[in-house]
Amino acid sequence: MQEAKDLKGYKQEVQDALDNSFLRTAMDNFAVAYRTGRANAFAGLDVENLIAQIAASKDSAIGQMDALFDEFKANAEKTGTRVHLARTAQEANEIIAQIAKDNQVNKIVKSKSMTAEETLLNHHLEAQQFEVVETDLGEWIIQLRNEGPSHMVMPAIHLSRYQVADLFSEVTGRKQDSEIERLVKVARRELRRQYLEADMGISGANFAIAATGTIGLTTNEGNARLVTTLPRVHVALVGLEKLMPTLNDALKVNRVLPRNATGQGITSYVTWITGPNACASAPEGQKIFHIVFLDNGRRELARDPVFKEVLRCVRCGACANVCPVYRMVGGHQYGHIYIGAIGLILTYFFHGREKARNLVQNCINCEACKSICAAGIDLPRMIKEVHTRIQDAEGHPVKSVLLSKVMKNRKFFHSLLRSAQKVQKPVTGGTPYLRHLPQIFAKEHNFRALPAIANKAFRDTWDHIKPHVATPRYRIALFAGCALDFVYPEQLEAAVKLLADCDVAVDFPMEQSCCGLPVEMMGEKDAAVAVAYQNLTAIHPEPYDYILTLCASCGSHLKKAYPRLLEDDASVQKELNEFADKIIPFSQFVNDVLKVEASDFMPSKLKATFHAPCHLCRGLGVTEPPHDLIRKAGYEFVPAAEEQTCCGFGGTYSSKFPQISAQILEKKLEDIQKTGAATLITECPGCILQLRGGAVKHGLDIDVKHLSEALADKHKKPSS
Ligand code: SF4
Ligand code: SF4
Repeated sequence: MQEAKDLKGYKQEVQDALDNSFLRTAMDNFAVAYRTGRANAFAGLDVENLIAQIAASKDSAIGQMDALFDEFKANAEKTGTRVHLARTAQEANEIIAQIAKDNQVNKIVKSKSMTAEETLLNHHLEAQQFEVVETDLGEWIIQLRNEGPSHMVMPAIHLSRYQVADLFSEVTGRKQDSEIERLVKVARRELRRQYLEADMGISGANFAIAATGTIGLTTNEGNARLVTTLPRVHVALVGLEKLMPTLNDALKVNRVLPRNATGQGITSYVTWITGPNACASAPEGQKIFHIVFLDNGRRELARDPVFKEVLRCVRCGACANVCPVYRMVGGHQYGHIYIGAIGLILTYFFHGREKARNLVQNCINCEACKSICAAGIDLPRMIKEVHTRIQDAEGHPVKSVLLSKVMKNRKFFHSLLRSAQKVQKPVTGGTPYLRHLPQIFAKEHNFRALPAIANKAFRDTWDHIKPHVATPRYRIALFAGCALDFVYPEQLEAAVKLLADCDVAVDFPMEQSCCGLPVEMMGEKDAAVAVAYQNLTAIHPEPYDYILTLCASCGSHLKKAYPRLLEDDASVQKELNEFADKIIPFSQFVNDVLKVEASDFMPSKLKATFHAPCHLCRGLGVTEPPHDLIRKAGYEFVPAAEEQTCCGFGGTYSSKFPQISAQILEKKLEDIQKTGAATLITECPGCILQLRGGAVKHGLDIDVKHLSEALADKHKKPSS
């Protein structure tokens, strides 16, 4: 559980997690197995459509939350269920404690409930002398260790079986074997008697069906059935966002939930409870059944135009499963109580900005969570919005205020880069890298060789190199982005040469600036908006067939984020739509629009592999064109494992959390080396900076190239 601390203290805890080799191996194994399991579970299903259905149905339910609560309450009370509404976590805990007191409860058994974790229910009940026993295996383990969950579905994923065996030995007073089946038997034996002795069972619920006053629970261990059946009192603590109009709505969610959570077609137990059932241990032969709905900010969230979609979350935990940062540091450093991408957001709303402040900065913006979310939530966007809100409330750090001031003034920004080029000689030693970083940078940031600023920016050579195309097939505006313009102009030059050979007229509008993604990542939304206006003014889309970019991050930001950033300005909508529609990444243009052929390239025997930039494959949805082009250019294409997993760059992220960035990079380079390819091709200057810098630092014999260079090297001149 993340406690409030300064960024330095948080980074130290992150470092401790990175140093935990068991955690790293467990997370790696899980991440790989999860992807395969999920793919198999969804085989033959239209996943996108299923997710869209969930999003629509949850949005509709969120919009009528109060009405659904009233309907649920009326229907449930007809069956003899008592329904409560708690405005806060404290109020929910007090209601539940009072129910326990009123019913002379001593011992309570609990099944897993993230909502109960959110309210810190166990602490509250234990402080009032109730004995509370968790009965989900993972939850029981972490309860015994006095820890919070490190995953929403698998709360003890951070522990090895040896650690669990030691713990069980301590609890039972007998040495326990570390074989998993035996450990499960120990837990079963210890917990069985607890169910029989308990006076009250507390559960959560995955669904609350308004039409019938029914709650639904999906579990794998069967403990929730015992918790809700054996004791004479049952209390279900349910977040208001679990309300759905009908059973059909819930079944839609349940088709996706287990598949997305654990790669199962269905969980072992799906339990529907409508009203109190017969119960031999209850004095009147019928169970006492209470449902406590928790608001704790949910009703306010449901009215928030930006954040209401976070209430769609069905708690599948998949956004943690695919997150490269979670994979490195685990849930205790990547959430407070709720874990993973959704945890970063919910922490702010349910537990306050103190607890969320560090967490929201630890997102690399890779969009893996968004691409897998069972409810189609735009999680990276929400994380950025929370970051901005926190900075707006607490004041923006000097560093990001300065950066946003610089970014808003293109001429000043570019003059700074030109000045830096002039003074960098002592640290480059005449090489293309910054070899001798000042001591303040040296240690943490030394995991990759950083490139020097190019002798001449692309924009400063444009007048000389602009090709003349007599009869163009297409007219394009080239959007460079800062890294290509000032650090890797040769990648743009290679593209321009190839495009001219293919009869494409290229224009380079000089007033274009940084795309603005770095400032948005730093929580500087105003600066991101200002820069978006500058670029929209610089590049009028009308005369061009396309606006082409060689930087996937710029492309994705221009196409997807600009419409959102400028959505309130009606006067620019027409031009903005045309601008966004015309944005195209290099590979898609060359492969799908120009339709180059293998015969256009010289044959080669070189083996090449590809790294898919996050904002190309997920941001822009472009996956196959780069593969096709690599093959057409005559390379032997050898795919790398986890091709679409982030390289660890993430712009300003890699300088804020260099230790995580370094570990992600290391894993990526291992996968690339295993292909045996001498050439690594990618389509984003940020990924090149990271991967080439890492390869140089590790002394690897891998040539890291932009796709534009890989193609231009092999392209036959039209006359040849
Ligand atoms: S965008 Fe990437 S790093 Fe950020 S929370 Fe989502 S998966 Fe994790
Ligand atoms: S945000 Fe999406 S992926 Fe994450 S737990 Fe919720 S539904 Fe699952």
